[in-house]
This record gives sequence, structure tokens and C-alpha cells, in this order.
Amino acid sequence: MVSEQLEARGIGDPQVLAAFMAVERHRFVADGGEGDPYGDHAMPVGQGQTISQPYVVARMTELAAPASGWAGARVLEVGTGSGYGAAILAQLGAEVTTIERHAPLAELARDRLQDAGYGRVNVIVGDGTEGWPAGGPYRSILVTAGGPSVPPPLLEQLDSEGGRLVMPVGSREHQVLTVVERRGEAWTTSELDPVVFVPLIGRHGVSEG
Ligand code: SAH
Repeated sequence: MVSEQLEARGIGDPQVLAAFMAVERHRFVADGGEGDPYGDHAMPVGQGQTISQPYVVARMTELAAPASGWAGARVLEVGTGSGYGAAILAQLGAEVTTIERHAPLAELARDRLQDAGYGRVNVIVGDGTEGWPAGGPYRSILVTAGGPSVPPPLLEQLDSEGGRLVMPVGSREHQVLTVVERRGEAWTTSELDPVVFVPLIGRHGVSEG
């Protein structure tokens, strides 16, 4: 998975590659027996939700990397899903808060994180479009569901000295991986790869249904 899907497609950050080697993806995404957890495709995680293919998770992680490094960095993930993305961030040494709107998914993810040795990840049940001010400000924020625009509370909770946010922004059918960097009260946006994510449902996202 790491050499054929990540390195071959340009993921070069040695720390990110090492984290993907270390975290056992099957602990997080194999429950239903729906195919190979290390395969080059998205996988169901329950409640009608999916986790992206490994490459997209790696790409987002690389794009969200704090300039000052991952170690001890406060990081927020919106959309816990299986818990795999949170495990990668914890493996990188970040202090991770992750928010999931579906309580059953959050509970499962909490158990899996605990069993895999990432029990210090803070798993919250709630609407991640509001962020989680108590855990911030964040050196990096990863939104793993797609919405029409970046939720304002997340922009506010970014560290004002180079905090980075990565989110799929666009319509329900397709989005663009968007990176926002904050410097003081200025936010700079770059639009990168076309992607398809499940919808970000919440007050500053889209409505259900
Ligand atoms: N990062 C996950 C994959 C997430 S799939 C992993 O590693 O497995 C996207 C998740 O975002 C889904 O579980 C969905 O329920 C959740 N979600 C959607 N809108 C949300 C919101 N407003 N707040 C929190 N979670 C949300």
C-alpha cells in the first residue's frame, strides 16, 4: 500500500510514509469483510459513510502538515468515521481532537483507537462544523467530509501563526481539496485536487437528506 499507492503517486514526506507503515488499517476498516482494507479504493465505515482510499488520506495529511512539525501540535479532525485518520495523526505525534456526528461511529472509533494504542485521542460526538474551541487553536484542521464552503468557526480556531486547514469544498457530487493557511487575520486559500467525499452535515455545512 505504502510503496505502490502512496510513494508511487508522489507522497514523499518520510514521516507521513512511516505513519502509514505503522498504523494497521485493518484494525479500523475491516469489520464488515467488505474487501481488502489495504486496497486502492474507498471503504464503508458504517452508517452509510466511507473512508477515502489510502492515497487521499495521505495527501490530506501531507497538505495539513504544520510547518513546525507534528510533534505535540494540536490538530482537529472533523469526521472521525473509522478512526483511521485520527490514528495516523496520533502516530505522527499530534495532540488529536476528532469530532463525529454519528455517536455509534464515534464509540466504535474510540474503542479501536484505544485497542491500537491511541487512547489519548479525544473523540467528541457533535457537529464538527462548529469546531471544538476547547482543544484549539489548531496547527492543523482536517475536514474529511465535503461542504460548500469552509465553516467560519474552523477558520477562527486555526492557529493565527501559520495554521493550515484542508477540506474538500464543493457540491454534493464533486469537490476540490482546498488548503487554507492563516497568518494573523489573513487567510490564504489554494485549490488543489478534484475529490469526492461524503457530505459535511451540520450548521455550517449542508442539511441532511
Ligand atoms: N476520517 C474518517 C473518514 C470520515 S468519513 C476515517 O478516517 O475513517 C466522513 C465522516 O464525517 C462520516 O463519519 C460522517 O458521519 C462525518 N460527518 C459528516 N458531517 C459531520 C459533522 N458536521 N460533524 C462531524 N462529523 C461529520
